[in-house]
Amino acid sequence: MIRQKEPAVRLDEVRKVHGANDRAVTALDGITMEFARGTFTAIMGPSGSGKSTLLHCAAGLDRPTSGTVTIAGTDIGELNENARTQLRRRHVGFVFQAFNLVGSLTAAQNVELPARFAGRRVPAREVAAALEAVGLEDRALHRPAELSGGQQQRVALARALITRPDVLFADEPTGALDSRSSKDVLALMRNLVDDHEQTALMVTHDPHAASYADAAIFLDDGRIVDSMEVERGRPDNSAVIAARMAGLES
Ligand code: ADP
Ligand code: MG
Repeated sequence: MIRQKEPAVRLDEVRKVHGANDRAVTALDGITMEFARGTFTAIMGPSGSGKSTLLHCAAGLDRPTSGTVTIAGTDIGELNENARTQLRRRHVGFVFQAFNLVGSLTAAQNVELPARFAGRRVPAREVAAALEAVGLEDRALHRPAELSGGQQQRVALARALITRPDVLFADEPTGALDSRSSKDVLALMRNLVDDHEQTALMVTHDPHAASYADAAIFLDDGRIVDSMEVERGRPDNSAVIAARMAGLES
């Protein structure tokens, strides 16, 4: 378990170089950052600035070239592949832009999947509760092709949350959704943080999506170039964030 004062995720001097020799690309160039428990952070920046790489390294899906990543108090660089997978299954949930649901499985079966991979059978009522939490209790037996994009992403959220992860990582979770469905997904993420002390990190380039977060950090060329707190309840947060982004680009 995480001790109270410990951040949910910590990165210390994280560098990530993709490829080697003359094709080497420095995607992260020394990232030091703490994400406190029960907070929702938006990771912003232009295309290619390192957002996805940061998220993947922070979630233990990818290994930094140097530096350390600590999840739930454990330096994941110290773990072997197997132990890292275990820690990820226990502490981390991941949502992608492309939903990544299994097309041949029902919504309920998709939600059950990560727990099954972790060797745990999930009682049917837990699956039902997870689908209910995302407003899809009446879609349990539907397959992804029979659901809208927004509904598919809510199934993906339920799937990410069934293991009750400490940290939810989301890479452009609303990137493929219309504005109505985006609002549903973002409001759900906000509730998870507010009502269940979960921690959420979300990559987005959309100021409106970022306005649901508590803070935004801005990446450029693999470095954090700015950060800001998002004042809850301000109606013009999207505009404030957009102005901040525009300031960085000029
Ligand atoms: P973002 O999500 O902000 O668009 P990424 O983290 O995907 O940025 O990529 C950061 C940089 O690293 C880019 O220059 C990208 O081309 C490069 N990159 C990302 N993944 C790989 C990879 N697997 N192999 C080589 N280069 C990569
Ligand atoms: Mg990306």
